Amino acid sequence: MSTSRVNQDPGPDVFTKILFSAPKGMWQTYARPLTAALEATGIGAEIVLSADAPETVDYIIYAPGGGLEDFTPFSRAKAVLSLWAGVDRIAANPTLTQSLIRLVDPEGLTQGMVEWVTGHVLRHHLGMDRHILNPDHRWDQTPPPLAGDRHVTVLGLGQLGAACARALSGIGFQVTGWSRSKKSIPGIVCADGIDGLKSVLETAEIAILLLPRTPATEGLLNAQRLGWMPRGAVILNPGRGALIDDAALLAALDSGRIGHATLDVFHTEPLPPAHPFWSHPRVTVTPHIAAATRPETAARAVVRAMAQIEAGATPHHLVDRAQGY
Ligand code: NDP
Repeated sequence: MSTSRVNQDPGPDVFTKILFSAPKGMWQTYARPLTAALEATGIGAEIVLSADAPETVDYIIYAPGGGLEDFTPFSRAKAVLSLWAGVDRIAANPTLTQSLIRLVDPEGLTQGMVEWVTGHVLRHHLGMDRHILNPDHRWDQTPPPLAGDRHVTVLGLGQLGAACARALSGIGFQVTGWSRSKKSIPGIVCADGIDGLKSVLETAEIAILLLPRTPATEGLLNAQRLGWMPRGAVILNPGRGALIDDAALLAALDSGRIGHATLDVFHTEPLPPAHPFWSHPRVTVTPHIAAATRPETAARAVVRAMAQIEAGATPHHLVDRAQGY
């Protein structure tokens, strides 16, 4: 099927043409939720899977890997609606002059990230591996510290970072956070700007990277900054692989300066079979699953943005192209 029609009869107030551009097979999982979300919002639509007449398209629902690289012919398109929260693979595309809206999906994406981060923080905080992997059957009753004794920092206090910081603070951790602009979040000690980074890293026993990949954040965690962290600190990276200098991280893991790294995202994905992260005893690899886009909730989020535009409002979560996120 290359065309799907929603809400045509009786004629709705708003009728749009939507191009769904995503990797092969994704439409099958989005057809029903997207149709339902459009119907619920009262937006009529013709949804096409290939753009034979690009100048007639009103919206592009976009995921990387669908083959769409040149946005120039979409002269009428009001917005490109990303199915991903991270827009680093599209934000710098020079042909993209239309508004770019990233995915913010509290019910799906944010909840998933909070669960992944909380789980992995608790693993390291409680030292769970000591009991899960206990080949010598040691009866070691050393109790783990309480959360209130543990300093955790979240780099990036956006939709995902702030939610994770709040969840960790709710458990009782001492949480600091870092962002580009000044923030005030109850219960979280917030620092900002490159000058504020040292203060949060110096105390971070566990650091969670939830920054976007931009020219300003690439290689942020380099040898010098890893050296600011307490000896044995743990890093969780569900943000983007490019935030970390891999060679510097491997050296810090080998020297014991960094105790463990749990990594969900990588410079190259899938992580190549020969990459040293796979076999490093102090690295846990998860395959970019920290927060998956869930069709049901993502479809509703995308249609909400469309409805805002149709109502003449500035859509929330518009990507700032100058900043790259
Ligand atoms: P947001 O845009 O809401 O938040 C980004 C945060 O990073 C903001 O707090 C922002 O600061 C901060 N930031 C950006 N640049 C800098 C900088 N140069 N210095 C300091 N702080 C900076 O993004 P989300 O929270 O929605 O998502 C964060 C990232 O998570 C995504 O970009 C993506 O890479 C990743 N992700 C990973 C997934 C996975 O499954 N592994 C799934 C979804 C997302 P400010 O608040 O001042 O703007």
